[in-house]
Amino acid sequence: YDRRKKKVDSIEDKDVSKPERPQFMTEHEKILAGRKKLPVYPYREEFLAAVKAHQVLILVGETGSGKTTQIPQYLHEIGYSELGKIGCTQPRRVAAMSVAARVAQEMDVKLGHEVGYSIRFEDCTSPQTKILYLTDGKLLREILNEPDLASYSCMVVDEAHERTLHTDILFGLLKDIVRFRKDLKLIVSSATLDAEKFSKYFDGASIFMIPGRMFPVEIYYTKSPEADYVDAAVITVLQIHVTQPLDGDILVFLTGQEEIETAAEILLQRSRNLGSRIAELLVCPIYANLPSEQQAKIFEPTPKGARKVVLATNIAETSLTINGICYVIDTGFNKQKSYHARSGMESLVVTPISQAAANQRSGRAGRTQPGKCFRLFTSFSFQNELEPNTVPEILRTNMANVVLMLKSLGINDLLHFDFMDRPPADALIRALEQLYALGALNDRGELTKLGRRMAEFPLDPMLSKAVIASEKYKCTSEILSMVAMLSLGSSVFYRPKEKAVHADTARLNFARGGGGDHVALLRCYRDWVASDYNQTWCFENYVQVRSMKKARDIREQLEGLCERVEIDNSVSCNDDEMDQVLKSVTSGFFYNIAKLGRTGEYQTVKQKKTVYIHPGSVLAKEESPPTWLVYFELAFTTKEYMRQVAPIQPGWLVEIAPHYYQECDVDDSKAKKMPKARK
Ligand code: ADP
Ligand code: MG
Repeated sequence: YDRRKKKVDSIEDKDVSKPERPQFMTEHEKILAGRKKLPVYPYREEFLAAVKAHQVLILVGETGSGKTTQIPQYLHEIGYSELGKIGCTQPRRVAAMSVAARVAQEMDVKLGHEVGYSIRFEDCTSPQTKILYLTDGKLLREILNEPDLASYSCMVVDEAHERTLHTDILFGLLKDIVRFRKDLKLIVSSATLDAEKFSKYFDGASIFMIPGRMFPVEIYYTKSPEADYVDAAVITVLQIHVTQPLDGDILVFLTGQEEIETAAEILLQRSRNLGSRIAELLVCPIYANLPSEQQAKIFEPTPKGARKVVLATNIAETSLTINGICYVIDTGFNKQKSYHARSGMESLVVTPISQAAANQRSGRAGRTQPGKCFRLFTSFSFQNELEPNTVPEILRTNMANVVLMLKSLGINDLLHFDFMDRPPADALIRALEQLYALGALNDRGELTKLGRRMAEFPLDPMLSKAVIASEKYKCTSEILSMVAMLSLGSSVFYRPKEKAVHADTARLNFARGGGGDHVALLRCYRDWVASDYNQTWCFENYVQVRSMKKARDIREQLEGLCERVEIDNSVSCNDDEMDQVLKSVTSGFFYNIAKLGRTGEYQTVKQKKTVYIHPGSVLAKEESPPTWLVYFELAFTTKEYMRQVAPIQPGWLVEIAPHYYQECDVDDSKAKKMPKARK
């Protein structure tokens, strides 16, 4: 390692500068000049000296100061990339892709060559990749294959303040790796000032601060709480647009794709009605599942005489910086995973943000000039109802996935794993129980052969179990298509308002023959393949071409992973054997079972929680809904909804998960009402 170190010291520091002659500058020269204007630039030498002097460094700087785009380039420019890749983790897929694209542009190289990105199910790299942006979850997976991260010379754990589950686990693993990889540089980068905590955790690592340049932001609150924050946001956008000077774009924080699409639609309509005397309003959405060409649109400079409004999830809170924003509208909500460790129930819930997050959001208005932030909640609510800080994800999530990963890394004693914030014992025990119930762990908590196979799949343990169970039920080909469709994260079906009836009919067509949403998704995929991946077929069936292509991509990767764990991925069942498919699903999802009660409402079988079929389900309007359902996930909006449901037979539960269900749980007869008489 010493030899390598000398090499770094002797490598000449290449200068990024070029002569500046604004009027003759090419596009690329302009970009280079822009790099030099970023707040981090004056600290380049000092920072690089600190990296040389310390193995672990905590880097703190305001959002937009250039940490994510510049730091990996600086490390590359002084030659670290000759010793190994420079990795930079991002909590969000969109950020990894978008930042990689930007850095490739700055370096004037093709994306995927020297600069690449790697996210679940999508790898845009090549052997010559020197700077790699990857999600924190993806790096965890890489550690499974390369426990010492030998192919890296530097690792930047970016957006550390977000404290995602995966980042938190990475901390524990990296802390260990840097002990035996003395040549690996670790930079933990954060946008907030509570760097002390990181420093303390990493044995007193030095802190490097990039002083921010912030302009004042005036904060406005509503006088009373807003009943409908999407509508309130739309109205505020239009008010700003009509009354405020044109040179300032608007950023609106909403909670998810559906909300953003609704808001975009209303905005387009209403701004058209404003007439031609009012300047044009360009509406740019940004959320995780937005296709990348459209993602790039938010960064395009606003044309003269128009105003841009960016409708974003909290991806724009710290991960992405959009230049030119002067007005921020903060609905005060985001979508968060919430987990009830006792019952083991996980759900996506629209949750009030923290004070810290609200301050981050308002800060986005004051990067380049004084700005304004309109909070769509009261000042009382800000002071008395919002938590000071966001609770780290590790304290509010199902841990089964990471526990399985840690177990396959040989970390058996989870209670003594070096967590920055220890997850509640309840949550760890729940995760162990769930993995045990799935058969991934034995009764001593050790990984079983099944668990080892499951860990190969970058999927939730319940989905990996379903894949592996398909071997037994002889329907692997079907399960792979279904799992690929379920893993898309967004709906494959689209439903334009003016053609809602046609779209619904098309969707329900896939459900003919039964099997609920799961089998409908499967039929949809199969019919698309049968149409020879035909686009017209997609249009006629109100199916998103892009989602289908993505599903095909995911499916191919799952096929490869099946080969690795020696499952024959070509085994297929007949159309009249869909029960086999649903049994495989149930093998993974027997935790997620609901039963129709006499009141006409569903209740989860073990926790007795009232749940409803999501209106987007093919079973939503069913006249005689099935008594027993398996659901894919819960999402809480106005009610606790089950997303993607399929009918099952109660008898399967005892057959498939005998250690979890007894006859009395699934007995439909009256005997059940007298539990005492059972003994
Ligand atoms: P930090 O990580 O410190 O928050 P970044 O490195 O993300 O800062 O951002 C530095 C600058 O790069 C910002 O001004 C941002 O607007 C700009 N930038 C980032 N991505 C793009 C892009 N795709 N197109 C144009 N500018 C971008
Ligand atoms: Mg950043």
